[in-house]
Amino acid sequence: MNYLGLLGGMSWESTAHYYASINRHIRNHQGGLHSGRILLHSFDFETIAALQRQNNWQQAAELLGQAGQGLAKAGAGVLVICTNTMHKVANQVTELSGIPLLHITDPTINALQKAAIERVGLLGTRFTMEDQFYTERLVKAGFEVLTPNSTERTQIHNIIFDELCQGKVLEHSQTNYLTIIERLKAQGAEAVILGCTEIAMLLETVKHESVLPLFDTTELHAKAAADWLIAHA
Ligand code: GLU
Repeated sequence: MNYLGLLGGMSWESTAHYYASINRHIRNHQGGLHSGRILLHSFDFETIAALQRQNNWQQAAELLGQAGQGLAKAGAGVLVICTNTMHKVANQVTELSGIPLLHITDPTINALQKAAIERVGLLGTRFTMEDQFYTERLVKAGFEVLTPNSTERTQIHNIIFDELCQGKVLEHSQTNYLTIIERLKAQGAEAVILGCTEIAMLLETVKHESVLPLFDTTELHAKAAADWLIAHA
């Protein structure tokens, strides 16, 4: 039970970053030929995205929970859901799989607290920005959460699904995100959570142009996963 169980493929573009980042942390920490003990259940994302569109979170929870059960059987001691959005069903997944979960907001909250941030902007899918499952954890941890306006939320959401999850990084979308970050700053945000695991891909080459510090959930979550592996070696 000392394997890390990844629920990935949502999208595979960001799961690839998780895999690389976790292994990089292990190599930096343990050196030589060491790498992560990882089990990956990679979904066909269209199946999951269709359930999101149909608002059928119950079936999505069952699919992720069953996959988690399979990973637990195969030797996983902990689960990592490699997407912010699917943390909407985190409780059901934990229950069905019978093993603990490294929740994506936990390392993000720690990093924000360390940086003494109090008011934070949130970018992510419409589900992550609008449904309570994500913001409530941030609010409970003491943050004021600012989300973009409705038009901007639609743009952010569409760029994630129509471009980033399909491996497309477009310049006008980079500009769009940077402008939204400027507006969040004008509203009082001191930092921005990249609350979708594909957004760092978009901003990679332009992040120096951001007017606010960026907290990348993919990188923070992957580091927490690597720390778990190191602690359970
Ligand atoms: N990977 C994205 C996230 O972090 C979006 C894909 C999804 O809906 O799961 O939310």
